[in-house]
Parts: sequence; C-alpha cells; structure tokens
Amino acid sequence: MIRIKDKSQCCGCEACVQRCPRQCISLIEDREGFLYPKVDKKSCIECNICEKVCPVINQSEAKEPLITYAAKNNDDKIRLRSSSGGIFSMLAEAVLNDGGVVFGVCWDKDWRLVFDYTESIDGLSRFRGSKYLQAHVGDAYLKVEQFLKSGRRVLFSGTPCQIRGLKLFLRREYDSLLCVDIICHGVPSPGVFRRYLNEEIANVAKNKVIDVDCLHIDDIQFRDKRTGWKSYSLRYQLRDNNANLYSNISLFTDNIYMRGFLQDFYLRPSCYVCSAKAGKSGADITLGDFWGIEQLKPEIDDDKGVSAVLLNTLLGKQIFEQLSVEKTLMNYAHVQQYNLAVYRSVARPQKRDKFFRSRKSFSATIESLSKITLKEKYIFIIKNLFRRICG
Ligand SMILES: Cc1cc2nc3c(=O)[nH]c(=O)nc-3n(C[C@H](O)[C@H](O)[C@H](O)COP(=O)(O)OP(=O)(O)OC[C@H]3O[C@@H](n4cnc5c(N)ncnc54)[C@H](O)[C@@H]3O)c2cc1C
Ligand code: SF4
Ligand code: SF4
Ligand code: SF4
Repeated sequence: MIRIKDKSQCCGCEACVQRCPRQCISLIEDREGFLYPKVDKKSCIECNICEKVCPVINQSEAKEPLITYAAKNNDDKIRLRSSSGGIFSMLAEAVLNDGGVVFGVCWDKDWRLVFDYTESIDGLSRFRGSKYLQAHVGDAYLKVEQFLKSGRRVLFSGTPCQIRGLKLFLRREYDSLLCVDIICHGVPSPGVFRRYLNEEIANVAKNKVIDVDCLHIDDIQFRDKRTGWKSYSLRYQLRDNNANLYSNISLFTDNIYMRGFLQDFYLRPSCYVCSAKAGKSGADITLGDFWGIEQLKPEIDDDKGVSAVLLNTLLGKQIFEQLSVEKTLMNYAHVQQYNLAVYRSVARPQKRDKFFRSRKSFSATIESLSKITLKEKYIFIIKNLFRRICG
C-alpha cells in the first residue's frame, strides 16, 4: 500500500489512483496546494499494485539520447504560439494524420490545468505552450490504455514523471504509443498559481472600480513571444460582464509569479530530487528550449524559438526524422551545458519554507523573499573570493 512518509517521495503522477483495483485511493490537496494520494485502509486489499506502478519506487537508469537536434517548426504562426520551436505540434499532427489520438495538457472550463485528448488538428491549440504549474492527470492513463487496446495510435505528452507513471501503469510496451516528454525544471503548485491569479484579479477590480465577481479569465499565456523567445512574457486577459477586456503582460523577469517559480520557492517537493529526468522516463522523444543556440549556431536563431529535440528510442528517431522540419544535428553535451534541468534537479531553497509560512500577500511575500540580505551578500563575496584564490 502507498504510504507517503516524506512528501518528496510522491511526484503526483496519479498512476496508483488509476490502477487501484478497489478504487480506494483518493487525492487530497495539501496546504501547499499539491495533490497527494490517500488510501482508504478499510477498502484496501493489500494487493500492492499501487506500489508496482509508482515511478518513485520503481526508478529506471539514466540514459543519454541516441541523437540530438536543434529544430524549428516551418510554420512561424505555430512556432510563435509554442514555447520553444513548435516541434510538439509537428509530432502531434503526424500522429493525427495517421488516424491517431493526442494527449496533452490544457485548461478546463474553470481554468484548472488538466490532461485531455484530441482527435483533430484544430484541437491541438489547447495543448500548445508551456503552463508553469502541475497538471491534474485524472483518468488520462486509463483512456490511453483504452485507445491502445482498440488499435489506435496514441501520442502522450507530459513531464518525465508523468511519462514514467504512464509506462508503469500500462505494464507492457505498445508499438503504437509515442511518448513525448519535456526538459523539466519542476512544476509549481496549482494552489499557489490560484493564489497569484486571485490577487491579480482583485487588483484589477480595485483599479477599475468594478466588482471582483464580474471579472472572468479569458486567456493565460506563460510564454508570450511578442517580447522575444529568450525574453518571453507572461500575459493574462480578463473579461468583465460587459465584454470589456483587461490585458496584462509582463516580462518573466518582472512577473511576480515567474520570479517565485524561477527561484524555486514553490516547486513540488519531488522536483528537488527528481526520479524521472535524465532519460529515466522512457519517453521516445524529449523536447526543450535550445538555450545557448545563439552562441552555438547563431545562423538558425531568429528569437522566435528553437527546440532541443532529444531522440531517445528508434521509434522516436524514425517519427521525428520523417517530419519535414528545419533541423541541425547537435551534441547532447551542448544541451547539458546550457540547460541543467535536462539531467539535474534544482536545489531546494532555504526560503521555500519561509514562502509557505508567510502570512503576507503573495506579491509582498515574493518581494520580501527576493531581497538579498546582508548575510547573503557577504556569503556571495566570500565564495567569489575563495573561487578566485583557489582557481
Ligand atoms: C513545468 C515546465 C517546466 C519546463 N522546464 C523546462 C526547462 O527547464 N528547460 C527547457 O528547455 N524546457 C522546459 N520546459 C519545456 C518547454 O517549455 C516546452 O514545453 C517544450 O520545449 C516543448 O515546446 P514546443 O515548442 O515543442 O511545443 P509547445 O506547444 O510549447 O509544448 C506544449 C507541450 O507541453 C505540454 N505541457 C504544457 N504544460 C505542461 C504541464 N504543466 N505539464 C505537463 N506538460 C505540459 C503540452 O501537453 C504539450 O505537449 C518546461 C515545460 C514545463 C511545462
Ligand atoms: S494495495 Fe491494492 S487495494 Fe490497496 S490501495 Fe494499493 S492498489 Fe489499492
Ligand atoms: S508518485 Fe504517483 S504512483 Fe507514486 S504515490 Fe505518488 S501519485 Fe501514486
Ligand atoms: S522535475 Fe521531475 S518530479 Fe518534478 S515534475 Fe519534472 S519530472 Fe516530475
């Protein structure tokens, strides 16, 4: 039976919940805003299936990709709506054109982040673009299994731990399944994102002197590229009951939510000791931003987005190399050099606990935690001096 003694031992993939034959595992939101499984011991028959499908308990070996490319979607409109080079959309279109089904992450009607699937190319737009918070898997793995058993091709995209969870859930390999994961920095708390949004909405209502209940979310983009791919912006749009629009766009370096995310204050505890990155997920293809491309191959960088494409299996290689896409062969070492998240977990910051203990507003908490204290300044200066003296 799943027993979570330490929160970092659960990445929240939900494989146990979906596989339990007694359906006696439910998900409970903790005070940090993450979902964790809880077993109803009275109904549990101690079959241990939940432990067999858990990616944290059943970790695989790290693996380097067979081959690495830098690539761009030829359609600039799609590339600009995508976070990196828009390669996810090309892979998804190839599977859909072959009669397949594509699973990805999108907003539901209440602006909660969930998994869903589409059978049409138009339906892909909901999945496009990174959303920087953890998505609720729901019954997505069960649906993938149903499609595979009925003979359909399936593309499933998600974080490395969600791919590993799916693979363990399925308990066998399917030639008709293409798994695509992302280079993953870590996932922020959905509860914290809700807190951020509620505070923003309340501020807009106050400034415009309208009732907060009249404002509704209309759109959220974490990687708006109108300021460039490398200096992207977070943009949200609200609508009031009279259809008036209120837009807000801020550079990721200025946006209060992105600042807290990039300082790792509210990642899921498992993300500081990730069990699925570095090729452990079993995904056929891993996608990320090709950071550093402006130095490695300046001729292909137009600041609209270049993807790092890591082909991990022969199936992934075969499907990607069939695409009509602008691609350049690269070294995996270059991805590692500019994108540590591909193989290394970020360190758990000391300020994480302070963030969750704070009683101030969300923005006031981030502002106060982002200030560099005198002690931190001294440590920084001493570390630098030490580095210079010792080489
Ligand atoms: C939380 C998070 C952290 C990331 N960290 C890094 C990083 O450190 N370095 C790096 O190079 N790249 C990172 N990425 C990946 C990168 O931002 C792009 O998602 C990836 O390169 C694919 O881009 P694309 O242009 O091909 O397609 P896009 O259209 O941008 O990709 C969309 C794909 O991402 C999936 N997706 C979006 N949000 C989520 C989510 N919350 N959970 C699971 N899947 C999601 C969609 O289902 C779809 O498959 C991260 C993405 C996320 C969601
Ligand atoms: S041991 Fe079996 S019945 Fe009990 S929670 Fe796990 S999967 Fe469900
Ligand atoms: S990591 Fe996944 S399978 Fe393991 S306990 Fe958490 S939700 Fe369940
Ligand atoms: S960092 Fe690891 S544990 Fe966290 S979401 Fe990404 S793959 Fe999952």
